[in-house]
Amino acid sequence: MKFSRYITLTALLLAACGPAADSRSPTVNPVVSRSADSGVPAKQLFGAKRSGSAQNPAPHGSYAKGCVAGAEQLPQTGPTWQAMRLSRNRNWGHPETIDFIKDLSRVAASQNGWNGLYVGDISQPRGGPMLSGHRSHQMGLDADIWMLPADRLDLSVAEREKISSISLRRAKGAYTNSNWTSQHHAILRAAAKDDRVARIFVFPGAKVQMCNDEKGNRDWLRKIRPWFGHHYHFHVRLKCPPGAQGCVNQDPPPRGDGCDDAREWVSNILNPPPPKPRDPNAPKPTPRREHTLSDLPQQCAAVLQSN
Ligand SMILES: [Zn+2]
Repeated sequence: MKFSRYITLTALLLAACGPAADSRSPTVNPVVSRSADSGVPAKQLFGAKRSGSAQNPAPHGSYAKGCVAGAEQLPQTGPTWQAMRLSRNRNWGHPETIDFIKDLSRVAASQNGWNGLYVGDISQPRGGPMLSGHRSHQMGLDADIWMLPADRLDLSVAEREKISSISLRRAKGAYTNSNWTSQHHAILRAAAKDDRVARIFVFPGAKVQMCNDEKGNRDWLRKIRPWFGHHYHFHVRLKCPPGAQGCVNQDPPPRGDGCDDAREWVSNILNPPPPKPRDPNAPKPTPRREHTLSDLPQQCAAVLQSN
């Protein structure tokens, strides 16, 4: 069932990524619009920017099709965090995301065996599509947090390129392994309880583990969403900040704690349902087209163009 839902979701995403009529006028900048018209993939334009735009902070668009103005850079090292893989230059986010990460890192630092957080990808300096990896993380409102307990906070730049996080999964994500600790539970709970957070993606076995272990209030579990991958890190997605016009929230997670849903994911991992026979009359799925600048919200041209 989950897999068919995934297919539906993919279909929706594909539909959302389809060619969009560009009814915009007037053009913001001839140089930018020419490169958009020439079909340069937007990921090349955004991937080339080394710093945030000199604009008021604002997320534009949606998580998998947008950009961010006035992004702030998470300092490479703080009292309770280190940004990892600095060569990727993806430690940029909306200021609310940066604040959230700092706050969560203080919670992490209060956990046994943790001195803070190792922070993975947030966004590129101006958000947007990336040359490699993620489809989301485009508005500066998504952040990956490593599962590896941050004990040392004096890792050199080179060490931060080299060391890896740890996986917490067993049996393809159906269960947690022995790296899972109650501290992971506590950090994920603190993140989910934060009002700024919309949802958190983590592998299905971790969600079920938290469902089984939580003896107190369970409301926060609703925001913990089982998903593929996400066993080396968890992914926090913030809501559009208050008053952010042109920032499109995702529908909130379904009501309830979502634990039955997560158990169904697990049972589908353990006993995969047979693949559905393909309807020979069904139209062929259209391959996903690269986004160009004209597919993104209009403001993203100005975000690119700004100093
Ligand atoms: Zn992520």
